[in-house]
Amino acid sequence: MNTTALTSQTVIDVHLKHHWMQLPREVIVGNGAVERVAEISRRLGFTESALIIAGSKTYDIAGKRVKELLEEEQRMKVDTFLVKTATVKDVDAVVDKIRTLKPQVVFGVGGGTKIDVAKCSSAQQEIPFISVPTTASHDGIASPLSSIKGFEKPYSVVAQAPLAIIADTNIIMQAPWRFAISGCEDVIAKVTSVKDWQLAHEEKDEYYGGYAASLALMSAKHVMQNVELMQKENEEGLHILMEALISCGVSMSIAGSSRPCSGAEHLFSHALDVIKPNHAMHGEQCGLGTIMMSYLHGANWKRIRDILKKLGAPTNAYELGVEKEDILKALEMAASMRPERYTILNKLRLNSEAYEHLATTTRVI
Ligand SMILES: [Zn+2]
Repeated sequence: MNTTALTSQTVIDVHLKHHWMQLPREVIVGNGAVERVAEISRRLGFTESALIIAGSKTYDIAGKRVKELLEEEQRMKVDTFLVKTATVKDVDAVVDKIRTLKPQVVFGVGGGTKIDVAKCSSAQQEIPFISVPTTASHDGIASPLSSIKGFEKPYSVVAQAPLAIIADTNIIMQAPWRFAISGCEDVIAKVTSVKDWQLAHEEKDEYYGGYAASLALMSAKHVMQNVELMQKENEEGLHILMEALISCGVSMSIAGSSRPCSGAEHLFSHALDVIKPNHAMHGEQCGLGTIMMSYLHGANWKRIRDILKKLGAPTNAYELGVEKEDILKALEMAASMRPERYTILNKLRLNSEAYEHLATTTRVI
């Protein structure tokens, strides 16, 4: 390295070894955005072949249109592979498909699972991936992480960032409103995940990226400030939410991990996933977690709860459709879901009584 060029940035680089940020290159959000898929594809240099990963429903909603546009406007060879779930088996099947077809690019069209499968399999085969979300339910639509069932870890692992994100609000608006509420909650969760990251930095000397943390936190604040717009059929609100979700994804790309966007509130949600699988939505579980972890951080938990209420999101066990015992069990399990991720739970090391006090005081149970 040229020592004369030793700026503060290079010092940081030396300290971190190589801090690699993989960011999306084209992001398009808006009504009818999907209609520009051929143009985006061309700009990125994909003019020959593509593979679309979708579910049967999301294929009808958006995948079919993507295929038509690429074939008609770009004369590309476009194959489709439909998946139902996001398991290791699904990923392996798509990897096989990629090996056989050798597409230039993979499109993930859908909500969580389809995008996760497309992201993970394309990363394994080292080919680019474009995200076409059909819902706004969580930040995985823009993040470099994917959550696959059957892997050792019950949380998301780094795969690759989407090269482009095409978020058509007209399509996303057709999904049940509950999905968007869940997305708002996944963004609001950054209030506590960033606090946990700061804590890990202060107490464990963990790497802390101020820019990534600020971006995640700003997204949460932006959604909270605009909560009045977060209503069904309100396109402005949906636009704000999509941008916030994408910014959260980018903050993870900058951090190189899920750290800015996933703290104790996510660990609580991962524990609930184990206790009551496929029960409530990811964001909804994180929402309850954010209320409780805000309390532990000494933050304004009542404000979080009031905003969730305004959104029409669940704020207690009953509304989430789980038992009081499930909440307590999840709190006790949370820290062990990911032992290396230091959060407020590791700092406080509460006992069962204290967890019950926490859940009762915040009226979650
Ligand atoms: Zn999340």
